[in-house]
Amino acid sequence: MNAPLPAISSLREAATPQARFADHSSFEVRFESIGGLGAHAAGHVLATAAVLRMGLNGAHFSSYGSEKKGSTVRSFVRLSAAEQPIRVSAPVETPNVVVVFHAVLLRNPATRGGLRRDGTFIYNAPAGVIPEELKALPRTARVIRVDALGIALAEKSRPNAVLLGTICGAFPWIDTAVVLEALSEEFAGKNPAAVATNERAFQRGATEYEVLEGVGEAEGDLPISRADPEWGFATQPAGGLLPEPGNTAWNDLSASRTGLMPVLDGAKCIHCGVCDLVCPDFCLVWGAGADTSKFERELMGVDYRYCKGCMRCVESCPTGAFGEAVETPGMADRLRVPLFPELIK
Ligand code: SF4
Ligand code: SF4
Repeated sequence: MNAPLPAISSLREAATPQARFADHSSFEVRFESIGGLGAHAAGHVLATAAVLRMGLNGAHFSSYGSEKKGSTVRSFVRLSAAEQPIRVSAPVETPNVVVVFHAVLLRNPATRGGLRRDGTFIYNAPAGVIPEELKALPRTARVIRVDALGIALAEKSRPNAVLLGTICGAFPWIDTAVVLEALSEEFAGKNPAAVATNERAFQRGATEYEVLEGVGEAEGDLPISRADPEWGFATQPAGGLLPEPGNTAWNDLSASRTGLMPVLDGAKCIHCGVCDLVCPDFCLVWGAGADTSKFERELMGVDYRYCKGCMRCVESCPTGAFGEAVETPGMADRLRVPLFPELIK
């Protein structure tokens, strides 16, 4: 028989900050993203609105990889009642809310690590099949899907504005108007033209989300995921040897694509090779064509593992054979033509 939901789950439905923080617990959000999608700005806006406009205590910081577009970014927000100091400045390991900016991150168990049994898991994806990985979420957690990229593209905004709106929509005690004010203020100085588009994206994010039922199957809180360094002073290889020689075959640039991918229409392709001249990552795959009297080599497709979505191939193609498509979960795996088939297990 299913265990009843813990009493604390009512906190996520609290209507006011006073009701939410009546038990003196904090509210912890972890944004899981990749560089370029605006997770840091989203965390900054949420914390700023809570501290300066809602009278709460708050803390925010982000951790970056190599500070380049496409590398992993995690942004952490902690909020508490005004009389409840925040004394922790470590990453959020047991979040009330996880917000996932890019579907490719769902594959990594660390993305959902530590989510509380009464937590909320918000992820960016269009309607459709629910990824298998989400079965690992707590059975009692709330799972929310929002097409943040689709809305952002339609409104000429970015997914962070949409996802901020969804957080506000999902938690009634967060003052939507003041978060929107903080968002507009953030952009008014940097890019005034973006204020109106972000506002529309935010408003749509606050209402156009789906709560998915029966997704998670795990019992209780999820275990904390803490990445320990592979090597320490006692375990590092002798003499600074590299036991695994560097090569590019294992690279995976999937997370560098921020929602769009090139798609080849083979019927329009004249195999001229212009796209291959401009592709910076050598991810186009060529092979013997069906009719070798016509073309010795034909373009077979793209190995999306190595494609960063720069769209140079789309811009340079003289026949329109390469088009730009919105990437949906699993699409790259389906259309991928592997460069190194021997590496696929
Ligand atoms: S540039 Fe266009 S037509 Fe030429 S090989 Fe590439 S996809 Fe085909
Ligand atoms: S978008 Fe096109 S040009 Fe850019 S990396 Fe991918 S295949 Fe190469």
